[in-house]
Amino acid sequence: MNFKINEIFDSIQGEGLFIGVPMNFIRFTECNLQCRWCDTDFENGELLELNEILSRLTKKWRWVSLTGGEPMLEENLLGLIKELREKEFKVLLETNGTIFDEEIFDACNFISVDIKPPSSGNPIYDEKVIDYLFKNPGKSQLKVVIQDNQDLAFFKGIYNERYENWILQPEFSSMDKLDYEKMLKGIGENVRIIPQIHKMLKVR
Ligand code: SF4
Repeated sequence: MNFKINEIFDSIQGEGLFIGVPMNFIRFTECNLQCRWCDTDFENGELLELNEILSRLTKKWRWVSLTGGEPMLEENLLGLIKELREKEFKVLLETNGTIFDEEIFDACNFISVDIKPPSSGNPIYDEKVIDYLFKNPGKSQLKVVIQDNQDLAFFKGIYNERYENWILQPEFSSMDKLDYEKMLKGIGENVRIIPQIHKMLKVR
């Protein structure tokens, strides 16, 4: 099994409900979107065998984040997840919500879906992904990056107060310009506003 990998490293999780948790990151190279504010390097990558990937992970961290790029584009993703679970890692899948595969979602310990708002240039997602999260609130979170009022309106359009784990993530370069008091008035109590702390701490 080969995978197109951009980088493998360990750091702290900087986004969402796992914020501050040390973990391994496997970053895949390819993505099916082209967000305006994307900070992922798609130029560099290498084809790695499964065993090489496993050998580069730090064993003392229980969690492995599969991130990108878009991990769901990897043909053998399920095989990698099964192998990681076999080695007693916990798998956090970070996906943009455009590709659904129930078997892959079921195989992960936690799924973090990062739906792209209008400011990204491609506000698209698969409804089946959202349905899965709504049915599995104990192992999922739904994140939306917010850069402006249009993004907030988009968020409100998909918001459902019965789901518990909504995250509004201020787009990093616009973080100082957003009106958080106004934002608070328009959201419910199942929404957390969480910035990207890895960028504040200047770690990967
Ligand atoms: S989905 Fe993520 S990795 Fe892909 S272009 Fe958008 S921000 Fe970049």
